[in-house]
Amino acid sequence: MMYQLLDFKTKEIVTTDDFVFAGENTPWQVQMDLDHIRHKINLDYFVTATPCLSKYLPLMPIKHPANFVSLRETATPLVKSKVIGKQLGIELYFKVEGKNPTGSFKDRGSAVDITLAKEMGAKGVVLASTGNMAASCSCYAAAAKMPCFIIVPEGVSMSKLAQVISFGGKIIQVKGSYNDAVDLAYKIAKSKKFFLAGDYAFRVEGQKTAGFEIIDQMLFQVPDEVVVPVGCGTNITAYAKGFSEYQALGLIDNIPSLTGVQAAGANSLVKAYEAKKTTIEPLLYADTIATAIAVPYPIDGDKALEAIYQTGGQAVSVSDVEMLKAQYALSTQEGLFVESASAATVAHLFKQHEQGLLPKGKRIVCVLSGEGLKDPNVVLKSAIQPPIIYPNEADFDKLYNSRFFENKSMLFFEQNTVIFADEPTVSQVKEKLNELFGDHYDESFAQKAQALIKRFLAKGKSIYVSDLQDIVQDAREMVDHENLDSLKVISFNVSTAQDKIAKAEVTVSLDGQLYYASNQGVGPVDAIIQALCKACPSEVNYQLTDYKVQIRGQGADAVVYVELKMLKEGKSSVGKAISPDIIQASVEAFIDAYNIY
Ligand SMILES: *Cc1c(COP(=O)(O)O)cnc(C)c1O
Repeated sequence: MMYQLLDFKTKEIVTTDDFVFAGENTPWQVQMDLDHIRHKINLDYFVTATPCLSKYLPLMPIKHPANFVSLRETATPLVKSKVIGKQLGIELYFKVEGKNPTGSFKDRGSAVDITLAKEMGAKGVVLASTGNMAASCSCYAAAAKMPCFIIVPEGVSMSKLAQVISFGGKIIQVKGSYNDAVDLAYKIAKSKKFFLAGDYAFRVEGQKTAGFEIIDQMLFQVPDEVVVPVGCGTNITAYAKGFSEYQALGLIDNIPSLTGVQAAGANSLVKAYEAKKTTIEPLLYADTIATAIAVPYPIDGDKALEAIYQTGGQAVSVSDVEMLKAQYALSTQEGLFVESASAATVAHLFKQHEQGLLPKGKRIVCVLSGEGLKDPNVVLKSAIQPPIIYPNEADFDKLYNSRFFENKSMLFFEQNTVIFADEPTVSQVKEKLNELFGDHYDESFAQKAQALIKRFLAKGKSIYVSDLQDIVQDAREMVDHENLDSLKVISFNVSTAQDKIAKAEVTVSLDGQLYYASNQGVGPVDAIIQALCKACPSEVNYQLTDYKVQIRGQGADAVVYVELKMLKEGKSSVGKAISPDIIQASVEAFIDAYNIY
């Protein structure tokens, strides 16, 4: 017997005649027969062999190496820090797991999951996931030529699933929560005899190879500490298992302590650790920008706690802003663009350093679990929008001389930081702009920004940092277009009723003359755009070619962002506007596009 399956809590041997390797309420675990393995591998050879995923096949629960579903994975880089380590006074390494085939460490586990699905004769694979797990499993299922069903809650962002679709994963949206999706995947696996992929017993057997690899890459010098971001808790469990199997094989004498880092808004493990408990209390919801670790109820939370206790480690949390700052530091100082969840590890070290808790010279490995391109929206939310100019050098010079590029390019704030709830004076606006963005905003710019702020406040909306970013961009464009003979909207009105056609009326002015028009549309936005088109003086030829709406923020604090492209006298121009109101935003985007040429 090469391995046994145990119930994690009772440690009793468990069996099943299907491909679901989880008890109904308890996780299962794999116990490898290390005596058997020790006889099977030549340790002298093993120590010197180049690290890569297939090197560790003898330590995986796979019957025949020929069945291994592999994408010829090489070891991921273990990079010694150039800047941050020195800054913190430690010997710091990064395990760059974003370099796995689909951009996260999940691939190590998927290689084993999908190999077993194939080796055991399952007809298909099913799992519930909205993110990296889905991308990874669908990729390996494609390599194994197996159908892969992904169950997701209705309404998850499809852009997150673009990788899954590309790998031919079959996505099914269900009306319900993520937990409902998990339950359904479980049931489908049971009844259809599909392999249930995900954070179940076998995944750890692939993911533990990252632990082997670190030891191999450090030439069997054991680091003092390995810092791992924690979502479901499976990966930190895998590191613990990897290190302890190497120890049991006599390859290392001691094992590193494991630090699990969670987001402050998804900190079930930290709570249990601080209360010295061995079981996790689920949270009702998770609140963090780091989607990969936004887990209210970690399936392997109890295993993760055990991993931490057994290695003398700790469970800690960091805030979203701390993660974003660390993410930026990794990009700008080390050239490593990683997911925010990955940056949680470095954020924790920054915090420890500030509190004087980081011993000099300590040898630490941070697990950078995923590639930054996986979730660029998180970064874009903190970014100052790049300026838009006409393609001439004079405009560039104007921007350059305004010292725009001496400003910050990112702003790190908790999303719910209110900047203005009541109407600010011009000098308050100026002061705030200079505090947040840089110090070159003058009185007249602040006046324009204040006018825009007032419009938001008039709609009963507070001004958040992200709103202010958009407002600054709008104000800058107003300055740029100031001297143009411009179209202005004097008034507009839209009326709609259930099942009735929408009607809109507008009055616009151009070169001192007023124009009025009314029109109908399939909806209020269509009606107002049609009316605007009609109202604009007829000698100008133009055509609306594209219209995009994006919602920023959530709930009552959402604003809409409208982008509208029009073709006017043979040239295309793009108008943009934001407002708490979609009609208002559409009208302004129209004016913006119209006034550009
Ligand atoms: C899945 C994931 C995590 C969390 O790992 P768990 O095994 O769920 O604890 C962290 N970072 C990234 C990039 C991930 O994809």
